[in-house]
Amino acid sequence: MKKKSILLIGFLFAFNLMFGQRTDVEGMMYLDENRRPIYSENIVIPDVNGYQVLKCDFHTHTVFSDGVVWPTIRAQEAWEEGLDAIALTEHIEYHPYKDDVKVDHNRSHELIETSSKKNNVLLIKGTEITRQTPPGHFNAIFIGDASSYIEENVSERDREAVMKASEQKAFIFWNHPGWRPNIAGSYEWIPFVDDLHKNKALHGIEVINGFGFHMKALDWCVDKGLTVMGTSDIHNLIGHDYDRSKDYVHRTMTLVLAKNRTPESIREALNAGRTVAWASKILAGKEENVKALFDACVKINPFHYTEENNGEKTNFYEIKNSSDLYFELKLKEGDATEQIVLYPQSKQLISAKAGQSSLTYEVTSTYVRSDKHLEVKLQLK
Ligand SMILES: [Zn+2]
Ligand SMILES: [Zn+2]
Repeated sequence: MKKKSILLIGFLFAFNLMFGQRTDVEGMMYLDENRRPIYSENIVIPDVNGYQVLKCDFHTHTVFSDGVVWPTIRAQEAWEEGLDAIALTEHIEYHPYKDDVKVDHNRSHELIETSSKKNNVLLIKGTEITRQTPPGHFNAIFIGDASSYIEENVSERDREAVMKASEQKAFIFWNHPGWRPNIAGSYEWIPFVDDLHKNKALHGIEVINGFGFHMKALDWCVDKGLTVMGTSDIHNLIGHDYDRSKDYVHRTMTLVLAKNRTPESIREALNAGRTVAWASKILAGKEENVKALFDACVKINPFHYTEENNGEKTNFYEIKNSSDLYFELKLKEGDATEQIVLYPQSKQLISAKAGQSSLTYEVTSTYVRSDKHLEVKLQLK
């Protein structure tokens, strides 16, 4: 090849790289500039009291039950959204695609074991025990062989079906109570559930499932010492169901305050109840966990300016949210800015009458009971 043409090819190659086009095969133009950039999102949440805050979704479906995607897509979505851990929880009793997809309760999990390892996303084995409502559905995670579960869906076997998970030492949570509010007993603390709880075969409840915040479930978790869960229960693509163009919108998930980023640490944290359910703008959990999370994310600086008006002094402060969480605050006690919206990774200015040592705000985007927001006392300097 002549020197000139080599230079020309070199130039074209550089030019095309610059503009995202390749022509390395004759007669072929690659239009890679039209591709969506592929990367894993980095959801920033500072450590809380020495615990890492892991982003986890323990309720998802694929075509191996009634989801509409192949398991690989779930692994890909989880990586792209920056999740730390997921579980595929196929229905044991419900397989609408069984004529096309062979029923195998362990298979979807097996299909993404390797890709999850490569992606550094922790894959927790799980299943959904899908009984009639009431009592409804239960997820079991950290399970053994899912093929040993009971497919036959008759009410006489409901208890046996859940106890199977208990025998495998699974972590069991009650799914979406209140999803069929018109059915009597579907959104009540029924004897069936009470019996599981008393026999240590119920460890948590889905307080938020996808787009439904089951507010009564938060009170049950607080009153009965159960772990607060938030899950997507995704059947379609995450990008189909969630408006990902908004920076504060993420799939509904559980924030797990874990000692380490390992399945063992997640299990320990779930057993200890160190979780907060996160649904985009809303955080729901036990007061101590929501408070610790807020305190780790939001700080107020000493005042940087004082304004004097007719002998009245007003101090100006910066309040900073160093997380990707979203907070809304409403003044409860003190003479200061009434409403504060803290967008992900942002600061706001607030003003307060000089001489006050603290301000009390309600964090109205959080719930520590169905009828109670987290209350925080901001110390002023
Ligand atoms: Zn369900
Ligand atoms: Zn489900």
